[in-house]
Amino acid sequence: MSNFHSVNLREGLCNGCTACVTVCPTEAVRVNSQKAEIMTTRCTDCGACLRACPNHAKTGRVDNMKDLDNYKYKIALPDPAIFGQFAPDVQPERILGSFLSLGFDEVFDVATACDLVSKKIKEKIVKTNHPLISASCPAVIRLIQALYPDLIKNLVTIEAPLEVAGQLARKKAIERGLDSEDIGIFYISPCPAKVTAVKRPVARKKSSVNKVLSIVDLYGNILKFANMKNTKTLQLKASGKGYGWARAGGESLAVGAYNNVVVDGIEHVTKVLGEIEIGKLPNVDYIECWACVGGCVGGPLVVENPFIARVKIRKKAELLNNNVQSSGIDKLDHSIFEWEEEIKPRQIMSLDNNMTVAISKGKKLQEILSKLPGYDCGACGAPTCRAHAEDFVQGSIQSTRCVFKK
Ligand code: SF4
Ligand code: SF4
Repeated sequence: MSNFHSVNLREGLCNGCTACVTVCPTEAVRVNSQKAEIMTTRCTDCGACLRACPNHAKTGRVDNMKDLDNYKYKIALPDPAIFGQFAPDVQPERILGSFLSLGFDEVFDVATACDLVSKKIKEKIVKTNHPLISASCPAVIRLIQALYPDLIKNLVTIEAPLEVAGQLARKKAIERGLDSEDIGIFYISPCPAKVTAVKRPVARKKSSVNKVLSIVDLYGNILKFANMKNTKTLQLKASGKGYGWARAGGESLAVGAYNNVVVDGIEHVTKVLGEIEIGKLPNVDYIECWACVGGCVGGPLVVENPFIARVKIRKKAELLNNNVQSSGIDKLDHSIFEWEEEIKPRQIMSLDNNMTVAISKGKKLQEILSKLPGYDCGACGAPTCRAHAEDFVQGSIQSTRCVFKK
């Protein structure tokens, strides 16, 4: 599991068009012999390539409903993004209830954890004197580890709502007399990055969540059950602000960060992180970054158009109580909110760990680059001329394949 990646290539569907190559923020994709390849050391599971592929050759590696059979007591943890997926007449209470019809014994609404996490983040903002970066999007965390390691110190060291929800759901079930081994916690995810956050967490050894299902895979059945008269309804317990976490800007609203910046879409996130790194946003308290356009409502494993889903979530949230629901938070063991481990940088772009070797490779790279035209067209299968020259220097290709070579 240590090298687990959720974004996966279905080779049979790939025709080597290179659409995925240029969108990857960490230059993790190459096309060789007319098939895409993902360099797992570089991939952040952001899903940009998944979205860009016209042939649907990239997919998120998720668990499936058969996994429910492995547990005596099954708890569903639906991400708030799910509430933006359905037509306005499908009540959120019925969406939650439909998980019981699907075979779950209990539903723990992740939006309730969003409320608790909001309160904890607010405390951090008050106590800190430098810009804090939200750590809620796991793709952004991995991007920072890989490309902006100096910004690791700016990340809010508070667990994401999905992990807090998993811990609370398990704890409550154990308090009711269940054996931890019998409890299966299933997070219902909008994205591959959150699958990887569960299977290979960055700030803890093991996630409290057991399995991850995708919203897109469950959509049809939820819709079917939500429309059946005998499906139970479950009360919404989170505030409108808790549900609002599903859209970009919702987290800042919930944590009360008004001196803030909200950035969504991985290419915009990379630009803004670069600006923070060189000190261009000194007067901002909180920076909310989402890899997906619109936030999690725009995740690669959802159904609805992100712009429509975003409005639906906002409208639903506005109908609810907008006071963050954090009653009882003082009785909780607060270690559930804190990262267990420090996040470390990932050295993915350096030519070599040995300085002498790196310098010699750098010289060779410049020599090859001087013979390439700098069009960055992707025809060679690499995202840029530099990446192509680097592949050669690193020995992953035996000759340069530039069609425009001088
Ligand atoms: S998931 Fe993101 S980081 Fe990984 S290969 Fe695709 S675009 Fe690159
Ligand atoms: S914005 Fe949300 S859906 Fe998209 S990668 Fe980040 S956590 Fe996943």
